[in-house]
Amino acid sequence: MNYNAPLTQMKFLLRDVFEAERVWASMPATQDVSSDVVDAILEEGAKITREVLAPINRSGDEEGVHWSKEGVTTPKGFKEAWKTYAEGGWIGLGGEPAYGGQGMPKMLTVLFEEMLYASNCSFALYSVLTSGAALAINAHGSEQLKQTYLPKMYSGEWSGAMCLTEPHAGTDLGIIRTRAIDNKDGTYSITGTKIFITGGEQDLTKNIIHLVLAKLPDAPAGPKGISLFLVPKVIVKADGSLGARNKVSCGSTEHKMGIHASATCVMNFDGATGYLVGEINKGLAAMFTMMNYERLSIGLQGLGCSEMSYQNAVAYAQERLQSRAATGAVNPQKEADPIIVHGDVRRMLLTMRAYIDGSRAFSLYTGMQLDLAKFHPDAALRKKAEDLVALLTPVAKAFISDKGFDSCVLGQQVYGGHGYIRDNGQEQLLRDARIAQIYEGTNGVQAQDLVKRKVIANNGAFVTLFLNDVRASLSSATHTEASVIAALSGAIRLLEQATDRLLKAAGTDPDYAGIVSVDYLHLFGLVTFGWLWLQVADKAVALRDNMASAKTTVDSAFLDAQLVTAHFYFERLLPLADSHAHSIQSATSSLMTLSARHFSR
Ligand SMILES: Cc1cc2nc3c(=O)[nH]c(=O)nc-3n(C[C@H](O)[C@H](O)[C@H](O)COP(=O)(O)OP(=O)(O)OC[C@H]3O[C@@H](n4cnc5c(N)ncnc54)[C@H](O)[C@@H]3O)c2cc1C
Repeated sequence: MNYNAPLTQMKFLLRDVFEAERVWASMPATQDVSSDVVDAILEEGAKITREVLAPINRSGDEEGVHWSKEGVTTPKGFKEAWKTYAEGGWIGLGGEPAYGGQGMPKMLTVLFEEMLYASNCSFALYSVLTSGAALAINAHGSEQLKQTYLPKMYSGEWSGAMCLTEPHAGTDLGIIRTRAIDNKDGTYSITGTKIFITGGEQDLTKNIIHLVLAKLPDAPAGPKGISLFLVPKVIVKADGSLGARNKVSCGSTEHKMGIHASATCVMNFDGATGYLVGEINKGLAAMFTMMNYERLSIGLQGLGCSEMSYQNAVAYAQERLQSRAATGAVNPQKEADPIIVHGDVRRMLLTMRAYIDGSRAFSLYTGMQLDLAKFHPDAALRKKAEDLVALLTPVAKAFISDKGFDSCVLGQQVYGGHGYIRDNGQEQLLRDARIAQIYEGTNGVQAQDLVKRKVIANNGAFVTLFLNDVRASLSSATHTEASVIAALSGAIRLLEQATDRLLKAAGTDPDYAGIVSVDYLHLFGLVTFGWLWLQVADKAVALRDNMASAKTTVDSAFLDAQLVTAHFYFERLLPLADSHAHSIQSATSSLMTLSARHFSR
């Protein structure tokens, strides 16, 4: 597979649509970040993903990981690739500068993470979990923990893993059984079994830093009794060198549908030495710092896979000759026309493109809010950004990964039977994208989070905050056609009506929110993409009409293609909002009528 990062579109969104340089200049922590530096990083990111990671993607899928009692080995080429990758400083790209990170804004790291997932999903996970674990340690760990662990994690000498799930506890972490005993010497003894741990064991790094959720003996029941512990695979001595093996072992690895080169491990903690991160019984909250970033990242997994699938599908559609165009032969000297002439093939490609470019804009917008929430000097602006991040994170995770998977199905379909054959790579992308809908909280659970915690719990205040911004864009969109404004205004009304219905039903029908949550999330996602496509289209017309004076890196052919894709979105995809809105408003009584016993055949 040849992967070429879509740098033109990435730079257009960063510079022209979101005016990132202006955002960075407004915050002391990012004011030295310039477009030139960012361009150089993106170019280098495109190079390493194209030349180092993409070439070992398919072989990694075929070979998978190997487990033995001594440990887990990754597929051929992964160790060497990790060394090159780590030496390039990529793991600490968004890391804290005081401990060796590069302090780059999230608006940049989301673009690089997309490249990582597009070129090699399995490899990406080792890196993304390391930066995610480092983020949680930086936000909640003691100064000693930060100094001891962060520099080695940013440099890629050590990696990170996130240990939440247990055999009986996935979504419901309140019932975990892993125990922590206070050793009264600043350490804790951790005992329990965690399953499905990504990168829980591997041969890429000398140490693995596990962030483990566990309960103290006197902890309150449920989520309020969970604490977070740092448990290294190898104990780190006072001078920073590696000492004895900790009592942590990998019992086995899972055989699974996709991401074969990512080690998914059963991890046994047998009185392992751990260190408290943050406060006792506040572990879930600490973990959520990491989760907002990780959840966006998992959306990017779906986006990356679908971008790769799109690149393959376009190349194939231009070469594969089958049948004639409906309006007459376009390729009379050959026995058939390329399949890209057919309306249905174009429907598939444009659907992929509209969701992919929309997802990229959505992840950049959410990344921008994460940057504002973390770095902006104005407390009111930080608070607004925090609220928007809270509202948008479940949508970004679930809608982007759902549309990413759907797009991979279309990318496979463009290949016909050849998409089902392993050699062509499309089926791997579909398998690798699928897990993004399941882990980091299933997409169904993301929808519950959206409707219950982010909409009903604040009586719709976050939705109003968001829609105020959407309306402001509608009134300032001076270059956009009336039909687009009307289409988006109509979809916004549907979202408002659905929100009203949710709020009204909250006090009277306890099941309603859970029943309509996925429809609500998809309605929300479609409106959000409409808003983002409006901004893209408006900017594209403004630039195209002033090409001579505009300071932009893109040409008019690129802008025309953006406009056509925007129109396709408004004409052919935004109408899907109607069906979700209709379902939300329809009767729900059939859902809870059948007794559990009567579901059986
Ligand atoms: C390849 C892979 C890698 C993973 N990596 C990690 C990792 O690194 N670290 C880690 O800790 N975990 C990891 N996981 C675990 C993953 O996060 C969980 O599988 C996921 O959160 C779902 O939990 P579960 O599988 O126990 O499903 P369950 O929680 O049992 O859910 C089963 C079904 O019930 C639904 N459901 C559950 N509760 C509710 C509810 N309240 N309302 C509505 N529907 C509900 C779910 O949506 C789902 O459809 C990984 C899993 C896999 C497969």
